[in-house]
Amino acid sequence: MLSTTEIQYLSTLISQKIGTTITFQEQSSIGGGCINQAVCFKTAQGRFFIKQNSHKRYPKMFEKEALGLNLLRESQAIKIPECIVQTTFEEKDFLVLEFIHEGKKADNFWQYFAEALSKLHRTSNENFGLDHDNYIGSLEQINTWKSDWTNFFIEQRLQIQVKHAFDKGLMGKKHLRQLDGLYNELSNGFFPKEVPALLHGDLWNGNFMVQSNGQVALIDPAVYYGHREIELAFTQLFGGFDALFYEAYQAYFPLAKNFEQRVPIYNLYPLLVHVNLFGSSYLSGIDVVLKKF
Ligand code: ADP
Repeated sequence: MLSTTEIQYLSTLISQKIGTTITFQEQSSIGGGCINQAVCFKTAQGRFFIKQNSHKRYPKMFEKEALGLNLLRESQAIKIPECIVQTTFEEKDFLVLEFIHEGKKADNFWQYFAEALSKLHRTSNENFGLDHDNYIGSLEQINTWKSDWTNFFIEQRLQIQVKHAFDKGLMGKKHLRQLDGLYNELSNGFFPKEVPALLHGDLWNGNFMVQSNGQVALIDPAVYYGHREIELAFTQLFGGFDALFYEAYQAYFPLAKNFEQRVPIYNLYPLLVHVNLFGSSYLSGIDVVLKKF
């Protein structure tokens, strides 16, 4: 929760930013986040969503999150909360976002979500990567530009996470040997050619909300330009979206054939991230894939 001085400081900044003096009423904590503390900041002029964390713990995390949210919003493809203030005060970082009022899914929720995501994915770029590194969860995500998706995926998505896991003793030499074999296979034209697509980058059930109008809003991204198949693969990892979503996405922006066979390979990335964040219980999912390929 926010202290009185933090409330005063943030109220002043928010007022300056929106051009209206706000009057603080009350705050309540919001759960569900994995990393930061969040509050609903209620004022006479409406609510704001505020995340906070220690300044030193995750350097520039909120700066990167704001950059990512802004980039997604600029595509005008899908609802993204507006970034109102991003600041540091007395050793703490704060990110103030437009408050998303939650509602029930509209009848066409999944179809509209698929259409909006397909529009986001049509926002393209010459190379894979981004002009800055950011975070995936609380881990650093390296986005150095690459013209080739296979190299980008192997070097900047798999190998970096594998190195972390190996250094921490979570993966052994046997894994490294299996992965070398996998890298060879991937380098043999495994991925269908696609132009780099703007990705949310961390799209699972916990990172979208249903707005009061019944339509989707995306939160908490790990943005970069990547192969759009990795985004759709990740949506399937923890529970998956409704079948209507996948049907509609295919209609709006068809995927290359045999996409389903590539899903486990893309999902090695989030699984490796989970191994590094939460430990070896996520290794079994990786072992299954490595044995198969
Ligand atoms: P963390 O960075 O800790 O993972 P999240 O960004 O996932 O935190 O936010 C935590 C929770 O707060 C989400 O699960 C969601 O329920 C809620 N939330 C996130 N953004 C907003 C927002 N702009 N307005 C209202 N609630 C939000």
